[in-house]
Amino acid sequence: MTLFARDLSSSEGNPSPAMVDPFGRALTYLRVSVTDRCDFRCTYCMAENMTFLPKKDLLTLEELDRLCSAFIAKGVRKIRLTGGEPLVRKNIMHLVRQLGKQIGSGLDELTITTNGSQLARHAKELYDCGVRRINVSLDTLDPEKFRKITRWGDFAKVMEGIDAAQKAGLKIKLNAVALKGFNETEIPDMLRFAHGRGMDLTVIETMPMGEIEEDRTDQYLPLSQLRASLERQFTLEDIDYQTGGPARYVRVAETGGRLGFITPLTHNFCESCNRVRLTCTGTLYMCLGQNDAADLRSALRATEDDGLLHAAIDEAITRKPKGHDFIIDRTHKRPAVARHMSVTGG
Ligand code: SAM
Ligand code: SF4
Repeated sequence: MTLFARDLSSSEGNPSPAMVDPFGRALTYLRVSVTDRCDFRCTYCMAENMTFLPKKDLLTLEELDRLCSAFIAKGVRKIRLTGGEPLVRKNIMHLVRQLGKQIGSGLDELTITTNGSQLARHAKELYDCGVRRINVSLDTLDPEKFRKITRWGDFAKVMEGIDAAQKAGLKIKLNAVALKGFNETEIPDMLRFAHGRGMDLTVIETMPMGEIEEDRTDQYLPLSQLRASLERQFTLEDIDYQTGGPARYVRVAETGGRLGFITPLTHNFCESCNRVRLTCTGTLYMCLGQNDAADLRSALRATEDDGLLHAAIDEAITRKPKGHDFIIDRTHKRPAVARHMSVTGG
């Protein structure tokens, strides 16, 4: 079956028709986890003692560039680098620079999701490479709570990173995971902080991925509940704003800023899914919430001719499922998906 069709959205620079999955969804967005390693150990994401991949199993930056370029040739227009922590991968700016060269001739946008710890050093170079918007993950504004939730993180460094990024001209969206009993009462302050500095804020429900020490059913805070409590203090107006992601946005009348909600468990966001996820070993996950995956590394390494790689990508896309199966297994307290979020990068 040929899975090409014209994507409905227009692209300035990419003449390639987008790949279309069996459910008619155009796939224009690739998320790439460039490393599974991280300098934090957020309690909802990782166990304290994680075993990471041996370095020899990782694709080189040149291989990652070749894979990303194959996806661009197949109609991908937006690439997000993530991880683990993307900015801890050695020489990562080399990949950013290479991909940045394709912005405007294939790629519409190159972006990154980071914990902010290394942002102060890299912000200016990110901008110079063509990155314009970034996501910074931040779950609290309290330095002690920050240390508790990240286990190893330094709040002051992240704030320095945010300052440097704004100074460099990068637009920032803050992402906060909503955690019951941890930050639910802090969201109003985070909202004022973000909007006061011209940043959007998105809150995310915890997803049951990977074994961690905590009990996920204790962490889970339905965003419908959070929204209801925010509505007691703020006027939230539904707006049509789209960033090509699963967030639903409201405008907060009192601050004038945008607040996004990502609700994988209470609201199924699969119908409009436009993305696939590549890991640092060359495994392609067609869905964040499913285990099925395709090995692209073999095709990549078999020959320098990209034909085999393109065929492997086409075959993988035929297997993109209709939706995820996230449910928290309350009886066995097991994660719905065994791999950690740091493998695919969220
Ligand atoms: N290290 C980078 C960071 O924290 O931004 C990028 C990778 S991290 C896995 C990407 C996003 O996934 C972060 O915003 C993080 O808060 C979120 N995340 C991690 N584990 C999660 C989980 N189990 N449920 C929901 N979001 C999660
Ligand atoms: Fe690291 Fe990001 Fe996971 Fe936190 S959420 S442990 S910063 S990968």
